[in-house]
Amino acid sequence: MKPSGRKPLASLSLDADNQWSYMKIHGNPAWESLPSYLDVVVPRVLAFLAERRLRITFFVVGQDAVREENRAALASIVAAGHEIGNHSFRHESWLHLYSEAELEEELARAEEAIEGATGQKPRGFRGPGFSLSEATLAVLARRGYRYDASTLPTFLGPLARAYYFRTAGLTEEQRRQRSALFGTFADGLRPIRPYRWRIGDGSLIEIPVTTLPVLRTPIHVSYLLYLDLVSPPLGRLYFNTALNVCRLAGVQPSILLHPLDFLGCDDTDALSFFPGMRRPGAWKVEQVGEHVDALMKRFEVVAMGEHAERLEQLPERSP
Ligand SMILES: [Zn+2]
Repeated sequence: MKPSGRKPLASLSLDADNQWSYMKIHGNPAWESLPSYLDVVVPRVLAFLAERRLRITFFVVGQDAVREENRAALASIVAAGHEIGNHSFRHESWLHLYSEAELEEELARAEEAIEGATGQKPRGFRGPGFSLSEATLAVLARRGYRYDASTLPTFLGPLARAYYFRTAGLTEEQRRQRSALFGTFADGLRPIRPYRWRIGDGSLIEIPVTTLPVLRTPIHVSYLLYLDLVSPPLGRLYFNTALNVCRLAGVQPSILLHPLDFLGCDDTDALSFFPGMRRPGAWKVEQVGEHVDALMKRFEVVAMGEHAERLEQLPERSP
C-alpha cells in the first residue's frame, strides 16, 4: 500500500473537573467537603491513553492541586508525559464576572498550586464552563500564557444550561451567577478554527473546542456519550461523519474529554443528574475508546501545547 502521507493534526484534552466542582455548579452544599474521585479516574484515564500511546493536556483545578489526597494522582499525570493546563483555582463558571484584579489572583493561585503539585507551569488555560471575558484574555497574555481554550462555538449552550437548571436546586442569586453557564447563543458565531487574539502589545492563541462545521453542534466526547445512550451506532456515525467533515473542511479538531466519560454508576452515585451516569464505567470506557480510535485513525493526535506550537499563519482578532 502506498503511504498516504502525514495525517492532519488534532489535539485532545481532558478537563479534570472533580466531583465537588459539579456539586458546586449544581448548588449542592455538600461540595464544601471537596469530595474527590481523582484517585479512581486518573489511573483509569492514564491506562486508556498509554494503551494508545497518546499524550494529551489535562486542565487541572488549583483547589484540587493543594489537597494532599490528590497529590499522587496529579503527579502521575506528569510522570506519564502529559501536559498540565490551568482550569482556574475555584472552578467558578462565572469567572467572566471577575475583575482583572480578581482574575490575577485566581490565576496566580492556581498556577502556584498546580506547579507545586506537578512541577509544571501551565502555558494553556481553559475557563470553567467555557467562561471567557476580555479581562481574562488580558490577564492570560500578561501572565505569559501561550494559548487559551475556553471557547465552544455552539448554539446549544443555553439548552444545556436549561437542562442543568431544571435538575438543580439553585437560588435566584446562584442562577444569576450561572446565567452564562455553557455559553450564550452568540457563542455559536465564534470561529471554530484556531486564531490569535491581539491584546495590546501581546497576543494569545485561541484553540476552540471544535464543533461540527456549519451546524455547530458539539462533538466533544461527553456529547457523543449522550448519543451513545440512545444508540452506540448513532454516536459513532455522528462522530465519524463530523471527523470526515473536519478533514474535508481543513479543520484541525480539538476534542475534549471529562472524567465522567470514564466513570459510571458503579463508581459514584452523587452525580446521577447526568444522564450518562446511569451506565457502568466499563461501558463508557468502551464507547470512549471507539471515538478516540476513530479520531486517531484520521488525525495525528497531540497535546494542546504541541498543537499551539505547530499552528501556522493564524488570522488575528481583537477581543
Ligand atoms: Zn471544568
